[in-house]
This record gives sequence, structure tokens and C-alpha cells, in this order.
Amino acid sequence: MDFTVPDELQLLRNTVREYVRDRLVPLSMEIERQELIPPDVLEEMKELGFFGLPFPEEYGGLGAGELGYCLAMEELGAANAAISNVIGGHSSLSGMAIYVDGSEDLKSRYLPEMCSGRKLGAFALTEPNAGSDAAHIQVNAERADGGFRLTGTKMWVTNGPVADVLATFAVTDKGAGTKGITAFAVDTHQDGVRVGKIDEKMGLHGSLTSEIIFDGAFVPQENVIGEEGRGFRTAMKTLDAARIALGASCVGQAQAMLQRAVQWSKERLQFGRPIGSNQAIQWMLADSEVDIHAGRMMVYNAAWKIDTGQRASHEAAVVKLYCSEMVNRVADRCVQVHGGMGYMRELDIERFYRDARILRIYEGTSEVQRMIIADDLLKA
Ligand SMILES: Cc1cc2nc3c(=O)[nH]c(=O)nc-3n(C[C@H](O)[C@H](O)[C@H](O)COP(=O)(O)OP(=O)(O)OC[C@H]3O[C@@H](n4cnc5c(N)ncnc54)[C@H](O)[C@@H]3O)c2cc1C
Repeated sequence: MDFTVPDELQLLRNTVREYVRDRLVPLSMEIERQELIPPDVLEEMKELGFFGLPFPEEYGGLGAGELGYCLAMEELGAANAAISNVIGGHSSLSGMAIYVDGSEDLKSRYLPEMCSGRKLGAFALTEPNAGSDAAHIQVNAERADGGFRLTGTKMWVTNGPVADVLATFAVTDKGAGTKGITAFAVDTHQDGVRVGKIDEKMGLHGSLTSEIIFDGAFVPQENVIGEEGRGFRTAMKTLDAARIALGASCVGQAQAMLQRAVQWSKERLQFGRPIGSNQAIQWMLADSEVDIHAGRMMVYNAAWKIDTGQRASHEAAVVKLYCSEMVNRVADRCVQVHGGMGYMRELDIERFYRDARILRIYEGTSEVQRMIIADDLLKA
């Protein structure tokens, strides 16, 4: 077993790490307060290729594969989860749906534009009556001359208000259950696609989330992703890779918090000595280190499976469940280590704590991941 990260991916990781340290971390508090990622920062990240990390060079991507993408997401997560969330909605979800099942024509029309960042992507699956139960979506796709017309509402779409292209899912055959769902690449700049309510969130400030309302939006036949009636499968395949990358971002967030907690444990004096000299504090640090190491290894292993063409649905669920719960445990401990200062907006520990909470909910809740894992066990 070889756990060495290939040289070119180490180089990529170092580039992202330096950019995060020098550019993103200093901006993180401002992003939180302004609830905005500065447009020039997004432009820089596009220039650096961060909007096309996992995709092959032939489509304009950096060709980093799933492992390279995860290494980068780990670093970006350490800066500010709003940033990794924008990249995740764009690449892990929207671009990945087109990449995993799109026709050559669709990939060559959309991916280069998306990898360069000229087009921003979003993934619209969730609806008011279909969250965990994504098989029961109701947005309707009716046959029209040369394609389909979409009607209905999607909600909580990351990047929704600013997206140029949506990977979305709609019902093409009402009686066929999951086999009646089709995936589409939809251009947002057309009549019939509208941004609805923009959501106010507990965290991820700077990453926009909204409703998307389809009112007879036209999608040409050639923008069907994969085959008609196979969209649910596309959504699940996309989520496999996405959940692994999300796990990587969890690892990065947890690592960043632990670094702060270690530093604080050395600096903060109580009873005439650093709080880190108390075993109670040491154990919180040690347990967090173990948690992070386990999460990181799970992510790298699952990413390697994807890159070597193996199925990783089971591992993706394990990674998503473990890493999202792990980062919340670490966040809680790191607030505790910081005491009252962990609760204050002066430090970014409280932002990390709030940002971590969504990770157990989106891209499939912890309960849904347990359902997938248990189902695999019981079927075997
Ligand atoms: C900030 C944010 C960004 C998001 N971005 C996107 C996006 O870009 N694209 C997109 O499509 N969606 C997005 N979502 C939606 C997200 O994926 C859903 O919120 C998630 O899948 C859970 O659905 P729900 O919120 O409707 O919860 P529900 O499905 O209503 O679940 C509520 C609770 O019941 C539990 N539950 C449900 N069914 C069962 C069961 N059978 N057994 C046990 N427990 C169960 C759940 O685990 C949860 O704890 C986003 C959500 C948020 C908050």
C-alpha cells in the first residue's frame, strides 16, 4: 500500500495552501462580516484554475482528479467554508453531474466554460416537498418541440442567485418512480428561469443560496444529461464524488480549528500556567487530532478509489457521515478550549462552529448516510 501523494498533487496542494494562507485567511473575517466573497478574489481563483480542479485538461480543467480536488478542498475549507461551498456547488455538484453522465457534446460545450469560471454552476435537486426523499421530486419536464419545458420550484440551491448553468432534475414520466427522473443542464439566462427567495443562513456567509423557479423554461434535447429516465442515477453518482470532496473540506475546517486551539492552549494562562498543561485540555486536542487523521485517511482512500475507476458509493457515505460528524465534534471541543473567547465574534472559532453545522445536513443528512451504509450491510 502506497500512501504517498504524487509529486504533482503535492505541488498543487502547496499552491493552494500558500494562496489560502496569504490571501484567503486574512480576508476571512471580512467575508463573514460583509457576507460577500470579494469579486476580485473569485477572479483570482478562476485564474489559478480552482474552478476546474477535478476535470481533465481536455475540458479545460486542472486534471487533478478526485484526490487532487480533495487536497485542494481540504486547504480551501481551512480558509473559510463559504469559499469551499461555492467551489463545491460549482464543481463537485454541477460540473460533476455533466462530467459523470453528460454526452461528449454536452461536456465540450459546458465544461471548458465552467472550468475557466466564465460560467458558474449550481445543482438543483431539492424541492419544498423533496429533501432527503429526493426520489419524490415534483418539478415537471414536459415534452416540447426539440426538447422539454420545466415547471416547478427548486430550493436551497447553492450558487443559485448567481449561477449561469444549473444541473437540475425533473420528472419526465410521472408513473415511473426514480426511472421517471431526468437530469438536465439548464441555462439560467432565459425566460422561464427566475431566482426566488434568497436564503438567510446560520453560516456560510458569502455563499449564496436561493430558490430557483422554473416557469416553462426550455431545455433542448441535447441538454439532457445522460439518458432520459436515468437522472436519479446521475444525481447519486454525482453525490458520491461530491460527498468525498465535502469530507475533505470537513478535514480542512477541523484542522484549522485544531491549530487555533493548540495555539490558544499554549498562550492562555489560568491558575498561573498555560491551560494546555491540564490533561482535560490535552485530551480534547488529542481526540481531535485522532478524529482528523481518521477522516483524512478515509477521504484519501475513497478519492483513490474514484481515481482508479472503482465504485465508491459505500465509502462516500462513510466519509460523509464520519467527516461531517467529526468536524462538529472538533468544533465543539475547540470552542470549549477557547472558553468565552470561543463564543465571541472577535475570533473566527465561532464562525467555524456555525459553518460546520450544515455539513451534517446537506448532500444527504447523517441519517440518510446511515441508511445507505446499513442498507449496503444488510443487502450483502
Ligand atoms: C445551506 C444549504 C445549502 C444547500 N445546497 C443545496 C444545493 O446546492 N442543491 C440541492 O439540491 N440542495 C441543497 N440543499 C438541500 C439539502 O441537500 C437538504 O436540506 C438535505 O438533503 C435535507 O433535506 P431537508 O432539509 O428537506 O430535510 P428533511 O428531508 O425534511 O429531513 C428532516 C430530518 O428528518 C430526517 N429524516 C428524513 N427522512 C428520514 C428517514 N427515512 N429516516 C430517518 N431520518 C429521516 C433527516 O435526516 C433530518 O434530520 C442545501 C441546504 C442548505 C441548508
